[in-house]
Amino acid sequence: MIRTNNLQKIFSTEEVETTALHGINMDIQDGEFVAIMGPSGCGKSTLLNIIGLLDNPSEGEYHFYGTEVSKMSERQRAQLRKGSIGFVFQSFNLIDELTVYENVELPLLYLKVDAAERKARVEEALTRMNIMHRRNHFPQQLSGGQQQRTAIARAVVAKPKLILADEPTGNLDSANGEEVMKLLLQLNEEGTTIIMVTHSPYDAGFAHRIVNLFDGKVVTENFHV
Ligand code: ATP
Ligand code: MG
Repeated sequence: MIRTNNLQKIFSTEEVETTALHGINMDIQDGEFVAIMGPSGCGKSTLLNIIGLLDNPSEGEYHFYGTEVSKMSERQRAQLRKGSIGFVFQSFNLIDELTVYENVELPLLYLKVDAAERKARVEEALTRMNIMHRRNHFPQQLSGGQQQRTAIARAVVAKPKLILADEPTGNLDSANGEEVMKLLLQLNEEGTTIIMVTHSPYDAGFAHRIVNLFDGKVVTENFHV
């Protein structure tokens, strides 16, 4: 499980100091599907980046599957992130110069998975995300929905225990958004923990729990039965 204890994040620039997170206490159990909601600027992406080991908190503790990581170096965090977390973003964040296949293969190259196993895993992920027929296309040649399905294939190809999604349907029409949500739900039903930031009450309805943030604090939590 993951646990934050009085997590704070302060961004300092020359002119201004912003407290983005004001003491977040959060427990997320293995296999949970949690939605994080709240107005623009309330700290959702900041929290997701810390949970995803992309950034450190300024204060407080973060226990990532039993390891306290709040003071780790970028290098140590990268090591821990490898293969254990899949990321999905609103803007897809695919590499334009690589094909669909190559984008999805990337995490396995980092993990030094051998060629035969890589091929099998990439093809499995592409088939599952219904994007196999576009394997040799480049991201710019795809629709938004196809780009996001490629990004999800890349997020799941290393079989991570945790998927973090920041407004995964934000740039999609409702039909493609629904497809993406069903894919995330399916992954969750197979045991993957999912933490998703969303502005959409409909998408949040797929989660077990909705955490509402306001001004860097958790204001309410709602559990679905
Ligand atoms: P949105 O719904 O618009 O994506 P959000 O809830 O994800 O908003 P964050 O991106 O977490 O909001 O930002 C929280 C606050 O921290 C904002 O006031 C933002 O300007 C500030 N902030 C975020 N990242 C940085 C940064 N790298 N440097 C300085 N301030 C930052
Ligand atoms: Mg954000």
